[in-house]
Amino acid sequence: MTFKMSDPFSNSYAEARAKFRAAADRARMGMEVYTSALQGPSVDGKPGPLLACDVAGHQLKGAERVLVLQSATHGVEGYCGSACQTMLLDSGIIQRLPPGMGLMMIHAINPHGFAYDRRVTEENVDLNRNFVDFGGQLPRNADYDLLSDAITPPDLDPQTIRHANDRLKDFSTQRSPAQLQAAISRGQYHHPDGIYFGGTKPTWSRLTFEGIMGRMPDSATKVAFIDFHTGLGPEGYGELIIEEEPGTDAYERARHWYGTSVKSTLSGESVSAQLVGTIDASLGWLLRDREVTALALEFGTVSSNEVFAALRADNWLSIHGRPDAPEAAEIKARIRAAFYVETDRWKSAILTRAREVVDQAIAGIGT
Ligand SMILES: [Zn+2]
Repeated sequence: MTFKMSDPFSNSYAEARAKFRAAADRARMGMEVYTSALQGPSVDGKPGPLLACDVAGHQLKGAERVLVLQSATHGVEGYCGSACQTMLLDSGIIQRLPPGMGLMMIHAINPHGFAYDRRVTEENVDLNRNFVDFGGQLPRNADYDLLSDAITPPDLDPQTIRHANDRLKDFSTQRSPAQLQAAISRGQYHHPDGIYFGGTKPTWSRLTFEGIMGRMPDSATKVAFIDFHTGLGPEGYGELIIEEEPGTDAYERARHWYGTSVKSTLSGESVSAQLVGTIDASLGWLLRDREVTALALEFGTVSSNEVFAALRADNWLSIHGRPDAPEAAEIKARIRAAFYVETDRWKSAILTRAREVVDQAIAGIGT
């Protein structure tokens, strides 16, 4: 597939936002803006503009079926998701929607993470672990508790890192690589300075998402949701991840729409571990009484070891370092590269796959 259009990829959140808004404008979509109280990185010494999540809508009023496409749940992963959204708009997605189908594009639900090249929100929270009931008992991740010091050691000295990695390797050998992945990434609620932290209360991004879902038209009985992610799986490959057991209606429906690239986190077939407090799970109550088919489209970037090392370094910089420290620039470049592969080959694979998946969603939800 060739894309005869301007480059939908960007070098910053601000550029991505401008490209998305311009493309939505050209497609004559309505726009709602959810502005946060936080500013983006300074430009030429001046404070950056306030960060925001932009929601473009088409034909939502009275729609029976709605397709929702979201980017930057994990901040820095927004380079990919935003480009996919802009590309879809410029490739005429509006013209491909059948009558009665609405489209909602949520751009940068975690704008702070995107703007500052972090996977987490301004609260150091993994938004895709933040959707739990904070009034109840919070889930305990005993394996993370055990490995906490090795997952995020106090410094990045080579000797410290070697020692920490040896402990993680031992755990992996004694249990299994999958159990190590789950221990680290499933989500944890007791180490606010750690990674994959689910938070102590709903984040701004979660509250914003709940507000957006609250505006889903009552007429919409069927909703297809695709959340764009990067950082897991083979480079350039886009796995469709579902948090439903094989055999359930939602799983079988997704398989029917998208084919065998749909993988469940509950059966061990996915590149992702089984997670806690996710956005997809929240749709069960936010959009109750509707038929929801929610998936993450997860694009592989670099090796899982490199992604982990980049996350660990960025966490260290945020908790213990300073943004103007000598090592800061290298750490920020590293985390960006872990979630955004800036080669023509990768970008082209991403856009082709995104277009394919979204066309399958349109056909599927239309049946
Ligand atoms: Zn992600």
